[in-house]
Amino acid sequence: MALARLMSGFKPSRRPDPVPNPPSPARGNPPAAVQLSWNIHAACNYDCPYCWFHGHWDDFSGGNVYLPPGEWAGHWDRFNDRCGGAEIYIAGGEPFVYPGFEQIVARLSKRNVVFVITNLAWAPASVIGKLDPAKVAFSASFHHQAAGSADAFAEKVASLRRAGFHAGASIVAYPPFLRQLPDWVDAFMARGIYPVVQPFRGEWRGRAYPAAYSRQGRRLVEWLARGEFVGKYGPLAWRAAGGGRTDTERKTDDFAREYQLAPRVTRGALCNAGRSYGRLQFNGDMIRCSQGGYVGKFFDRDFNMGAGAQACPFRFCECGNEVVYVKGGPLGPG
Ligand code: SF4
Repeated sequence: MALARLMSGFKPSRRPDPVPNPPSPARGNPPAAVQLSWNIHAACNYDCPYCWFHGHWDDFSGGNVYLPPGEWAGHWDRFNDRCGGAEIYIAGGEPFVYPGFEQIVARLSKRNVVFVITNLAWAPASVIGKLDPAKVAFSASFHHQAAGSADAFAEKVASLRRAGFHAGASIVAYPPFLRQLPDWVDAFMARGIYPVVQPFRGEWRGRAYPAAYSRQGRRLVEWLARGEFVGKYGPLAWRAAGGGRTDTERKTDDFAREYQLAPRVTRGALCNAGRSYGRLQFNGDMIRCSQGGYVGKFFDRDFNMGAGAQACPFRFCECGNEVVYVKGGPLGPG
């Protein structure tokens, strides 16, 4: 079926059973002075073909640093003493296969707000009563080839919400998946979960994406990413899907999405990356952003974030979640 008809003929096919999204922990806690992405290790229990690490795990895993929860707590305490409480987005690889991960998060969330980006291959029941929903939230990435049915996966996200956790979902618009995407989105929306559809960035069959999407493919990805289908769902599903996020979170999502759909040159623009945002790598290096810019070694006793916004040295910002720190972005310099 042509992609265009997938959009024009789209209608919800599941019985709605929306589960409201509890408030984001960013809402119920003092605003964080710093936001960090922590790539805790280059290792995963999946190996998705569209993953940035696919085919390169061995190139990176040698740099992984495995420390016990108590030692991590010492490093983070020193950081918090110096920089205050932070908003920490933990990704990998897969964070939950890092030894002692739940204990690390339990300690970390005492002084910080923690968002875990995970493939949710684990049972939601395993964190209930162990992690604090007032300080910890989840962003579950649906990887069809490993996770199986979208309905089963969406049900796991819904069970995290029922346990009080702010929980969302995302899907990569990998070219071979385009025809299945609307049905997957319906599986989430039926439970009141609005999945973030991310344009695929990378190579498929020798062609570079997102530029290589066909005209219809690009239109479908935009239609899904911008949520142009939501009018097909009732207010209950929409309220459940839209709830729980702060205004800043909404603004950053919108800014990031539009940038990913139409990237523009960032070189020379002032950016807060390195000052109020940083990326902690699995080897302990703190860098400005996913493209580089060394800030310091997190394990050093005198480690600190940069003092001020600096010009972006890169032609394009490669990460939608980071472009929000550039001048003009919702978290950029004034
Ligand atoms: S604009 Fe993007 S690429 Fe440039 S420094 Fe900021 S975060 Fe990095």
